[in-house]
Amino acid sequence: MAEQIVSPDLNFVKEVIAAGADSLKKCYQCSTCTVVCEVTPNNKPFPRKEMLYAQWGMKDQLITNPDIWLCHQCSDCTAFCPRGAKPGEVLGAVRKVTIKEYSGPRFMAELTSNPKYALLLFAIPVAIFLVILGAIGHLDLTAISLNENGVIAFPEFIPDIYVDMIMVPTAGFAALVFLLAITKYWSAMAASAGGVGGGDIVNSITGTLIDIFSHKKFSACGVAKDRKVSHLLVFYSFIGLAITTSLGVFYVYGLKWEMPYPQTNILKLIGNASAVGLLVGMTYMITNRMKNQAKAGLGSYFDWLLIVIIFGTCVTGILAEVIRLAKLPVPAYITYFAHLVFIFVLFAYAPFSKMAHMVYRTTAMVFARHIQRD
Ligand code: SF4
Ligand code: SF4
Repeated sequence: MAEQIVSPDLNFVKEVIAAGADSLKKCYQCSTCTVVCEVTPNNKPFPRKEMLYAQWGMKDQLITNPDIWLCHQCSDCTAFCPRGAKPGEVLGAVRKVTIKEYSGPRFMAELTSNPKYALLLFAIPVAIFLVILGAIGHLDLTAISLNENGVIAFPEFIPDIYVDMIMVPTAGFAALVFLLAITKYWSAMAASAGGVGGGDIVNSITGTLIDIFSHKKFSACGVAKDRKVSHLLVFYSFIGLAITTSLGVFYVYGLKWEMPYPQTNILKLIGNASAVGLLVGMTYMITNRMKNQAKAGLGSYFDWLLIVIIFGTCVTGILAEVIRLAKLPVPAYITYFAHLVFIFVLFAYAPFSKMAHMVYRTTAMVFARHIQRD
């Protein structure tokens, strides 16, 4: 057998433990987790070997390893682990550290992953939008007029051009960070695997997208089998909201149509259905977590930050619409303000928060297919 020299990175072990893997050291390598995992490939299965890598501080074996993303955090391993080592949560912590490793600038990753900065995450967009409102003289909400039809129109409170001036560069920044991170991650995985072979990349991408759109892997989960329904609802609601946003841009800049649009407009129908789908999906997700916490763990700050951001975006969006229709200008403007803050937080910190799992997992799944790993 070839000799392998292990160089433990103790700082990495500490980082993984701080990221939510405080049970890591309890593992005694019995392999029960690997046996019960229905998601892992049979060849070199996870998560036992990842538990060993994490205990020994073998950072490179973990952050260049697509397997940490093939895990769908269904928690069967955590439920059956005889030592309470919570392998599902350990892999979640390793994924968090991996996101931090590839996503720059580093201070943004620190800002997003450290609970002591939670308020600052929200204070930044609050300050930005308050400065804009101050500059256009709209800090006195009672003085803002309704539109010419006498209804509440949010562009009268904060015109679209100012919202777009903030949101478009923010989304562009997130897209650029994702692109750079994923390029680095792909190269690191390829170097670790000794190349990517000569497979058909189109087939690898198509197969991965079919898996994602059907949420096929979630069907294998036992303990947290309800995750499939909630995750699917959230996933398709996000697609609906992306379509709504694209239509909104087309209406405002292409057709020059002014908001608000009638409830029967296709944009409103898709947007409202998606918002309700998101609310139901997120509520179901939260109740599942509470219900399964004894077996699967409650999740880390990293998990809950994303839940709070998505839930907050959804609730403030629905409330802003309902209060606007109820013709209560000041509460409607305040709720819309909160909605803009949540949207900013969702976009700006996406490459550093758990939201990034969508991009990293997709990349790792494509890579794993491409090297015939999955
Ligand atoms: S994590 Fe638990 S089940 Fe897995 S090898 Fe360690 S002790 Fe065994
Ligand atoms: S959390 Fe689920 S998918 Fe991940 S290693 Fe454990 S059993 Fe497998």
